[in-house]
Amino acid sequence: MSKIADETRDKLKPRTRMVLLGRDHEQSQGFVNVPAFRGSTVLYPDVATLRSRKQRYTYGTHGTPTTDALSNAWTDISGAAGTELVPSGLAAIVLALMTALSAGDHLLMTDSAYGPARAFAMGTLKRMGVETTFFDPLVGAGIEGLFKANTRAVLTESPGSQSFEVQDLPAISEIAHARGACVIMDNTWATPLFFSPHSHGVDMAIEAGTKYLSGHSDLLLGLVSANALWLPRLQHTSSQIAIPAGPEDVFLALRGLRTMALRLKEAERQGLELAQWLSKRPEVLRVLHPALPDDPGHAIWKRDFLGSSGLFSVILKPVSDAAVTAFLEALDLFGMGYSWGGYESLVIPFDCSSYRTATRWAPGGPAVRFSLGLEDIDDLKADLERGFARLRATV
Ligand SMILES: *Cc1c(COP(=O)(O)O)cnc(C)c1O
Repeated sequence: MSKIADETRDKLKPRTRMVLLGRDHEQSQGFVNVPAFRGSTVLYPDVATLRSRKQRYTYGTHGTPTTDALSNAWTDISGAAGTELVPSGLAAIVLALMTALSAGDHLLMTDSAYGPARAFAMGTLKRMGVETTFFDPLVGAGIEGLFKANTRAVLTESPGSQSFEVQDLPAISEIAHARGACVIMDNTWATPLFFSPHSHGVDMAIEAGTKYLSGHSDLLLGLVSANALWLPRLQHTSSQIAIPAGPEDVFLALRGLRTMALRLKEAERQGLELAQWLSKRPEVLRVLHPALPDDPGHAIWKRDFLGSSGLFSVILKPVSDAAVTAFLEALDLFGMGYSWGGYESLVIPFDCSSYRTATRWAPGGPAVRFSLGLEDIDDLKADLERGFARLRATV
């Protein structure tokens, strides 16, 4: 959006900015989209420029016009000071933790964190001399009692993976900052469109671009945005580790960015309608969706979030494992598979009880997570009706 002055751009609404951001028609020779720049070597015009280190592009691992386009756009919509791109959401979590922590430090991590983040803390981080304590996602200001002299980072995720507890980020951030600790948040569920991380006290925000930014289940990408305090440290760590995102994935993510606001709005609408429908089903005990008024996280969600995405869970009334299996296998439109945020609906069964340590997971029945795609909601309901019929017919 090179032709639009900064003052004009700042007044534009997020949806408009998402159409314009990161586009440089001069660089793209007039074509609408920035091409996928591929490259390791960048040539210098002369010795003086090579020695000055002032050329914008110096080597493939240090960024390209394609990665700049996405990273600058993400920084804008996140209200951040800058953004680093890495090849997966998990790599984004790893990069943020490596930025904030050193040997001998202590990490506080929500018990509801994305499972592989937990595995990284208990494996590699532990081996590198970092100790982790898991905490109840509903701890709020009570997190103060868990701080040690060497606590340097808090990893939050709101709402929590699979279980959807909403965290009080302003309360947690205030305490963490008073203790000099870095607040990291996995914001994949809401995206910056529905939760503005840095204005709620988050220092580094993670997005698995694999999910809604991609929107088509065909790429892996991670983004870490940082505020002004943490950006220099994030950039330093990122350049030393050198795990740049691939050009094709970044190109596709930029394309996803253009329609993300629309897809997210639709995911919200579909998700809410199905969540409400499911909450009235006789087979369902509870729906875990923070935008439902009777959800325990609703008040904080309403205070801090601007919307809800299409991912939520359901606790079924107690039935046999065979009945849950029959339900899942009877579904034609809900594919069974990991990841989410694509145009196609997905379902997975899950059980947090095997790994949680700070909280007990005993929801009262089998748990199933849904990711709502763009199919017609009536067809999705009919698919679930079929599934429930099979569930009831199975002992
Ligand atoms: C999927 C996911 C990730 C990891 O993203 P990948 O690109 O699959 O590595 C991280 N956090 C959350 C909340 C996720 O759902």
